[in-house]
Amino acid sequence: MSSTPTPLIAGNWKMNGTEASLAEVTALAQALQNEPTRARVAVCPPATLVERASQAALGSGVEIGGQDCRAEPFGAFTGDIAAEMLADAGATLVILGHSERRSGYGETDAAVCAKVTAAIRAGLEPIVCVGETLEERRAGKAVEVVQGQVTHSLPDDLHGRAFSVAYEPVWAIGSGLTPSLAEIGEVHQAIRETLLARFGDAGAGVAILYGGSVKPNNAAEILAVQDVGGALVGGASLKAADFLWIIRAV
Ligand code: PEP
Repeated sequence: MSSTPTPLIAGNWKMNGTEASLAEVTALAQALQNEPTRARVAVCPPATLVERASQAALGSGVEIGGQDCRAEPFGAFTGDIAAEMLADAGATLVILGHSERRSGYGETDAAVCAKVTAAIRAGLEPIVCVGETLEERRAGKAVEVVQGQVTHSLPDDLHGRAFSVAYEPVWAIGSGLTPSLAEIGEVHQAIRETLLARFGDAGAGVAILYGGSVKPNNAAEILAVQDVGGALVGGASLKAADFLWIIRAV
């Protein structure tokens, strides 16, 4: 793993998108062919679109990811999807531990940790999300909470593997609010220290993404913060034109 991570700009479409949305993947892929970037670019559509998005992005360098997976490789888990299934459909990445999964489905750090192991087993690169609630930030516990989530959501299987961590303050997601640049820098530095303590020098090569209301108009200043190695983008990733402005800010 290199010591300077390649920036990763990943779009999380959440539960948005039907066949018509594939035009956005095509537009993104075409734009990036005419306008190369030093960032890795990924789109994580709903599971129904992973295979078609992979086809639409073929040869462009745009990577396709899932938004969640089950820890087990197969079985009687109605409605769930295995990491192997995402890989089979063409995904190369998977978002895990998103706060909407943690809060809506009671996903604990231990559950996220098991899913990360599953992703590694399936050959997917995990993007592991962490972030404090507003109450935790107001109580002065943001760094402590995030360091705990990083420690307990990352399995030892990650030694020698490619993965990234996304710092997404829960209160910044979809709200239009963002922490100050100093607050972002403080948490990213704490995540870096945790990664270095756990993974040694390889911890320097892990991209730490910021996520939470990243938009074309604030991307450049956020991406310039020390130890911010990319962005996980929700709403502004749905339209290729907006997403491209964030990619250009790298
Ligand atoms: C997200 O859900 O991962 C996210 C960062 O959303 P938004 O950019 O819309 O705040």
